[in-house]
Amino acid sequence: MNEQQRTGAILAIGDELILGQKTDTNSAWIADRMTQRSVRIVEHATVDDDEALIARTMRRLAEAADVLVCTGGLGPTADDLARRALALAMGDELVEDKGSVAQIRSWFAGRGREMPEANRVQALRPSRGRSLPNPNGTAPGLAGRIEIDGRGCEVFCLPGPPREMRPMFEADVETALTVEGGRVVRTRMLHTFGLGESEIARRLGELMDRDRDPLVGTTATQGVVTCRVRSQGRSSEAEALRALDDTERLVRERLGGVVFARDGEAEAPLESAVLGLLRSRGERVVVAESCTGGMLGERLTRLPGSSDVFAGGWLTYSNEMKQAQLGVPERVLSEFGAVSEPVALAMARGALAGARGAGGADHALAITGVAGPGGGSEDKPVGSVWIARASGDGTNDARLFRFGGGRGAIRQWSAVTALGMLRLHLDAAPTPLLGQVEPPQDD
Ligand code: AMP
Ligand code: MG
Repeated sequence: MNEQQRTGAILAIGDELILGQKTDTNSAWIADRMTQRSVRIVEHATVDDDEALIARTMRRLAEAADVLVCTGGLGPTADDLARRALALAMGDELVEDKGSVAQIRSWFAGRGREMPEANRVQALRPSRGRSLPNPNGTAPGLAGRIEIDGRGCEVFCLPGPPREMRPMFEADVETALTVEGGRVVRTRMLHTFGLGESEIARRLGELMDRDRDPLVGTTATQGVVTCRVRSQGRSSEAEALRALDDTERLVRERLGGVVFARDGEAEAPLESAVLGLLRSRGERVVVAESCTGGMLGERLTRLPGSSDVFAGGWLTYSNEMKQAQLGVPERVLSEFGAVSEPVALAMARGALAGARGAGGADHALAITGVAGPGGGSEDKPVGSVWIARASGDGTNDARLFRFGGGRGAIRQWSAVTALGMLRLHLDAAPTPLLGQVEPPQDD
């Protein structure tokens, strides 16, 4: 494999995946692990429980890749066809693996049961293949080799349940992936908040050319645009990391203050960054929510350990609650309306004051907006949202946003944007945020 990067393919097997009843998390996890091992993934495929189709797809992928990892279809029932399909694809026959029979027996014995006869099929393997032990379930994995025109592809079949698949991948597949003298693949994620994906692409310009190495790509998830930087042509780890550093510097130069984290928490990167910034400053935040109905609090409590930095909040949907709980003056509400800069600021200051008797807080975030579909007006159309921050140091910030996409999206954007505003303050990174508009001037 010298000088040539290994290629990989991933096959997910199961009716439930095809029908959309179950999300294929295995392929994403395996792709990430294989990429970390310098394998270049060329294709993901998903097929239903159909023996001929599985076998055909295995052969097609084996033509394109050096390593093929399949998951699912190893159970004991009639719809579990990965074993037979692998034998078919290898042009081999199934034989019973004595060691596997013993393992499956002892798995049941450990639970005080006899092995049902139906589970015996799980001990079958292609005669030229190997069984892979499964310490976490009954289905052994399989390893084999598909030869096409004198070229071979290593194939692994792993069980579907992630808690069985992952340990088996680590024990039996990952070790087989280590190659010497090949190309090293290293990736880095730069998470941004505040610009749209197209504006990010415009600013990155030629850094996103598809033939560039390191390659830069973007993905957007709920306002967070993540730039993935991947170096794949260097032959040593040190060179790959240097190349990533150089590209990261260029990305940061072009994107400015919107980059808020590197790598880090994959599922909730913005929440994680905000909690981390508060924690490092020993500070706490409270919230006052109207149109988001608690969604900001939900985000701030997504990750474990948030109790250090999130104190709590107020859910003040009606004007009366805004007055009674946060001390927003009646006069301000009637003069400016509930969706206005003075009300958003009064909610944030009221929350900060309200926390005083309860352990105190250093920052308060307030959200008041028109989530729709009704309730919009000419000067406050649906999607108009005021978000305010007030801090114990006396500073505050209120911004008007115009979000689109319907009630659900408007509420999601409001909650995530409030987090984005707090992060800008904590990180001293002043920048307008996506969706922000100039308030109308009354003169
Ligand atoms: P199987 O080995 O096909 O019997 O799959 C057993 C169970 O594993 C399924 O019911 C799913 O819950 C889970 N599973 C199978 N394939 C996947 C996948 N690609 N991603 C996540 N879970 C899966
Ligand atoms: Mg299945």
